[in-house]
Amino acid sequence: MYNYARQIVDTLASESMHGRGYVNGGDSIAANYLRSEFNKFGLKSFTGDYYQRFSFPVNTFPGRMSLNVDGKELAPGKDYIAFHWNPTASGKYATVLADDKLVQNKRKFKKFRRQNFSNKIIIVNDTGKQTTELYDLLGNSLNAKAIISLQNKLTWSVAQKQNDRSLFEVVRTSIHDPKEISFDVEAEILPAHKTQNVIGYVQGSEYPDSFIVYTAHYDHLGQMGDKTYFPGANDNASGCAMLLNLAKYYSSPEHHPNYSIVFIAFCGEEVGLLGSNYYCEHPFFPMKNIRFLLNMDIMGTGEEGITVVNGTLFKKEFDKLKEINTQNNYIKDVKIRGKAANSDHYFFSEKGVRACFMYTMGGIKAYHDIYDRAETLPLNEFENLFKLITDFGDYLQH
Ligand SMILES: [Zn+2]
Repeated sequence: MYNYARQIVDTLASESMHGRGYVNGGDSIAANYLRSEFNKFGLKSFTGDYYQRFSFPVNTFPGRMSLNVDGKELAPGKDYIAFHWNPTASGKYATVLADDKLVQNKRKFKKFRRQNFSNKIIIVNDTGKQTTELYDLLGNSLNAKAIISLQNKLTWSVAQKQNDRSLFEVVRTSIHDPKEISFDVEAEILPAHKTQNVIGYVQGSEYPDSFIVYTAHYDHLGQMGDKTYFPGANDNASGCAMLLNLAKYYSSPEHHPNYSIVFIAFCGEEVGLLGSNYYCEHPFFPMKNIRFLLNMDIMGTGEEGITVVNGTLFKKEFDKLKEINTQNNYIKDVKIRGKAANSDHYFFSEKGVRACFMYTMGGIKAYHDIYDRAETLPLNEFENLFKLITDFGDYLQH
């Protein structure tokens, strides 16, 4: 169980998957791996090849990616990120600094804003005191060639559109009183990137038309330039590892279910829950036939237990899950949370499906950065989580 989970996380978070995003078709390489595992377990398919195809526009960074400060090349992902909506742009420019001190001096700040920035890069140093004014500056950027925003932690994302100006987030300690900055970024909008959800099922022996659904998104953020990829081990290779372990378990004859069980690996979650939204608009069987849906996203730690989103909406199921955990002492805590549009359960529960989302808490803090790696993901509570989920699954099957 653990070894299989480890193998899945290692594979999905490896460089060959390109961060399971849109450069080099990383998402489709991952989807193909997942369906070959589904096929190994003999899961049935609604479509013949496990794929539900759809497409969407997405901004990508397939090539050049550099940021150079006073002659020193910064490391992409480690020292900086090119903001996810950046366009293709390059050049070498002098810098001007906008910080809390400047904003506090009303007269100086007014004068500052009247400057011509068309050949400048503005460094925005927000230490938390004048956030509104500095964010204002980030927003309209005063015709500067680029904005550099200093940060304590880098958190990347995915955009579907490009902005007309460039923004870089740079780690505060990686840059010291810069005078001149050059950058070179190649960005490409893919107007209708073709991708797919991967969906398989085990037919229930007693109630084949009633479904318990397990879901996890397999996409991540992809590549930022031709040398840097975001592995997404915890987010969400770990959830895929749980999904595949459940598929393996329920496809074996001794665990054959009464109700049908569907396993869905969604794409496009990081772009805005696109895969699950598409499925909800194009379901393979009536949504009302879903008895319960459990979405799993970020399953790699658990020192502090788990949180269950929508637990307040589906209190009976939540209480059962908590009771099973308390009786068996599986994990430290099962915390309740209300509604949140933060993963793939969301559009299901909006359509009236009983759906919860489970994520682990505690341990390593890597999130949407280059440090979310397989090598450092502990999977320390993974076996206990698996037992908790399958015990809860037994309850749902009766
Ligand atoms: Zn996620």
